[in-house]
Amino acid sequence: MESETTDMSRKKRVGILALQGAFAEHALSLQKLEAEAIAIRQPHEVKRLDGLIIPGGETTTISYLMMAYGFTKLLKEVSLKGFPIFGTCAGMILLAKNVPGLNTDTIGVMDIKVERNSFGRQVNSFEIPLHISVLGEVPYPAVFVRAPVMLEAKPEVQILATLPAGTPVAARQGNLLVSAFHPELTSDQRFHSYFLNIIAECS
Ligand code: GLN
Repeated sequence: MESETTDMSRKKRVGILALQGAFAEHALSLQKLEAEAIAIRQPHEVKRLDGLIIPGGETTTISYLMMAYGFTKLLKEVSLKGFPIFGTCAGMILLAKNVPGLNTDTIGVMDIKVERNSFGRQVNSFEIPLHISVLGEVPYPAVFVRAPVMLEAKPEVQILATLPAGTPVAARQGNLLVSAFHPELTSDQRFHSYFLNIIAECS
């Protein structure tokens, strides 16, 4: 019993894929929530994790590096077995099954169709408060940086957030969580906290 209690109360180990893109800000958000944040650069490091964040960056570059380092097949396999993965921005694109115009191999396990760079190719960043019911009543400050959007989602995908016009920008499918925006770029930790809840549910 005692070891079980100790095990339940140990900090969650959350990897952040650190091949390219944002690492430090995700780590800070996780640390504020008392989780352990670990930079992941080799596939063998995934075994010791409770969950993984795939950060924003450049999808094409990350997908090439994931192939070169041997992550693509592994992450596809473990995610299909229930390993929690949270993809933000480029991470959302890498988890989607359908990305028109993207010709590299990706993880491709989530039943969503995603359009890249939906708000233009230039420095098109904006912040907008979104009502996300799983996070409570207070609007969540969502930061978009050359962001994708979801064009379609199968019924098994739960849409968590939409833009005022109705475009879906965050969703969950079982152990998989995606956001088109960057939860690591706000001081509001509720989206990371929601991912930690998914990890607790899945473990
Ligand atoms: N526009 C990028 C892409 O399609 C994603 C941007 C981001 O992750 N901030 O790769």
